[in-house]
Amino acid sequence: MPIVRVALPVPLPQVFDYTAEDASEEDVGRCVRVPFGRGEKSGVIVALPSLTDVDPARLKPVRHIQREVAALPADWLALVAFAAQYYHAPLGEVVALALPPGLRRADAVASDERDPWLEVTDAGRAALAATRRASAALALVATLGSEPPMRRSAVRALPGGAAVGDALRRGWLVGRAAGPNAAAVAAAPRLTTEQQAAVEAIAGAGERFAAWLLHGVTGSGKTEVYLRLAERALVAGRQVLMLVPEIALTPQLEARVAGRFPGANVVSLHSGLAEAARSRGFVQALEGRADIVLGTRLAVFAPLPRLALILVDEEHDASYKQQEGVRYSARDLAVWRAHQRGVPVVLGSATPSLESWMHARSGRYRLLALRTRAVSETLPTVRSIDTRRMPLDEGISGPLREAIAARLARSEQSLVFLNRRGYAPILSCPSCGWVSDCPHCSAKRVVHLADRRLRCHHCGCDAAIPTACPVCGNQDIRPLGRGTQRVEARLAELFPEARVLRLDRDAARTRAQWESLLARVAGGEADILVGTQMMAKGHDFPRLTLVGVIGADASLHAADFRAPERLFQQLMQVGGRAGRAHLPGEVLIQTEYPDHPLYRHLARHDYDAFAARELDERRAAGFPPHTFQAMLRADAPTLDEALAFLETARALALESGRSPLRVFDPVPMRLTRLARRERAQLLVEADERALLQGFLGTWMQALRAQRAGRELRWQIDVDPLDV
Ligand code: ADP
Ligand code: ZN
Ligand code: ZN
Repeated sequence: MPIVRVALPVPLPQVFDYTAEDASEEDVGRCVRVPFGRGEKSGVIVALPSLTDVDPARLKPVRHIQREVAALPADWLALVAFAAQYYHAPLGEVVALALPPGLRRADAVASDERDPWLEVTDAGRAALAATRRASAALALVATLGSEPPMRRSAVRALPGGAAVGDALRRGWLVGRAAGPNAAAVAAAPRLTTEQQAAVEAIAGAGERFAAWLLHGVTGSGKTEVYLRLAERALVAGRQVLMLVPEIALTPQLEARVAGRFPGANVVSLHSGLAEAARSRGFVQALEGRADIVLGTRLAVFAPLPRLALILVDEEHDASYKQQEGVRYSARDLAVWRAHQRGVPVVLGSATPSLESWMHARSGRYRLLALRTRAVSETLPTVRSIDTRRMPLDEGISGPLREAIAARLARSEQSLVFLNRRGYAPILSCPSCGWVSDCPHCSAKRVVHLADRRLRCHHCGCDAAIPTACPVCGNQDIRPLGRGTQRVEARLAELFPEARVLRLDRDAARTRAQWESLLARVAGGEADILVGTQMMAKGHDFPRLTLVGVIGADASLHAADFRAPERLFQQLMQVGGRAGRAHLPGEVLIQTEYPDHPLYRHLARHDYDAFAARELDERRAAGFPPHTFQAMLRADAPTLDEALAFLETARALALESGRSPLRVFDPVPMRLTRLARRERAQLLVEADERALLQGFLGTWMQALRAQRAGRELRWQIDVDPLDV
């Protein structure tokens, strides 16, 4: 009887063997349901081994192999296997993360009772066919476009390659436009010289692996470069994977991509999708019916049989790194994936991560620069406002206030950027010293006046704002410090004639709310915006000409060695929102350190100088990207338990005796207590990636063999971003 080897989502680094009467090699990559313990689990068949360590008589039969969907291809299995190996995570957990839940469940599909997502897939298929029929203004495209493999062979079969290419290209570009939605088609602008050079360099390098770092100032038209490259792939009948850091960014980009390629099947993949939609998108990618997969980090796991190009927008963004469970970096996996498939990958950013920048400097990545903006002639003017001897009104200085007034007079928009949401970070009692500590975390609960709650931003617990001090009964309790709500309130008082709009996670809890806020800004329904980092990325508002930054100094002296890099990126991004169209932009940064090199480099838009200085400092201090790190984190009801586990781990690490490896002492995490658990961490560091990886392999094995207390949890984070 055939044996099938199955990856199951369990926290064990092993696969499980079962028998399956009718299994064949074709079933490798298929979802399967199997008995497990007293219940049942779903996983993916990763192999059909001829031998097993288990006594064959004791193997249990699988319950159901899902054959209604194409099997996941070998290159996909290799991708998840690599992720499992590199991030030292159980294969089954990576599989569980990579597969949409609906697909993974591998439910039995009875003829009269089909999976809802399969229904949708069929509906989707029908809709697609209908679209293609409608777009058959180009009959040629209709024939060629019916199924991907056919399209390619048909292209080859037809005489006059150029003519076919043209027709196809018109098909992708105007496809649906011939039908009822003709107005939706967006014309491609003429490329700037720099854009043209970038497209030619990347396209000219041919179809093989190369990692490109596209360093383009804000507004330089990186997206246009992506679209041109994507267009070439589509014309060749191939697939494109486009990663963006945040779900919040997808609607604008989605509209732009769909507007440019109305004939293409653009599929979105992100965690905000309903289960059915995510499964459908995944299956369309798997079956080669999706032309462009546009998504957040989990989209890096999309199976793409016709893949020709990977684009990673805002490659420096921390949200490419998953911060829980399997802590993978989608950007890094994207580069691996491109290498695996022998296709180019383009990492784009105005402020590349220092990791990518170093690769570009050393020649491992190929560097392309866009130094000028595509539309506006100039970058915004960046100036510091020295607040050392200046009275501030709820954080707002006189010069910033005047600058806002000037914009109002010209009917332009201003953005006040403050990376702290809520009304005030602390509520306190001046008479007894009580502060709004979170009962579950080593953090303060934040005052939210909008809905009159005290809320912990770490564990989410909240309560009504007390009317008097809970300890001494004093009624004069005060909010300390300020967040976006407080600044919003003050701006509304200072400029009663202006429409003030706040854009942060509290104002936009859902994608729909976020889209409607953005639409209001774009529609000119707001004069002054108050926003957090959510506002920093990717948005394009032609009438926004002033960005005022308050409260940035805190990051200059943060304990995290990546804080300056993040601050520079954030300020460059948010500053880049100013003056993107024909109106000149201005960025005003309120600071008590106007001469700090970071602000000076920022004022000159000199990323290169900033990066050079930062890389030097990191080299001197022995920090990444010059070294490679992994962080072992443990949490337990008591700090002692967590630290004791890490001490054992440290002893095990030292035993293995790999001297070039540095094993630090276990320390409590900065936010030690989170949701009633005490947390500690242990850093290991090496000068070479391979060295670290080799060590982690043996160390993880030793750690898994430990009998840790039942209440203790631990995880390993390779290439951690928070240390
Ligand atoms: P980036 O992603 O580099 O910040 P975008 O790709 O969003 O920049 O482009 C900024 C603006 O410039 C957008 O409004 C875009 O439509 C416009 N744009 C880009 N390239 C061109 C071009 N070649 N000609 C005219 N407008 C362009
Ligand atoms: Zn009190
Ligand atoms: Zn809390």
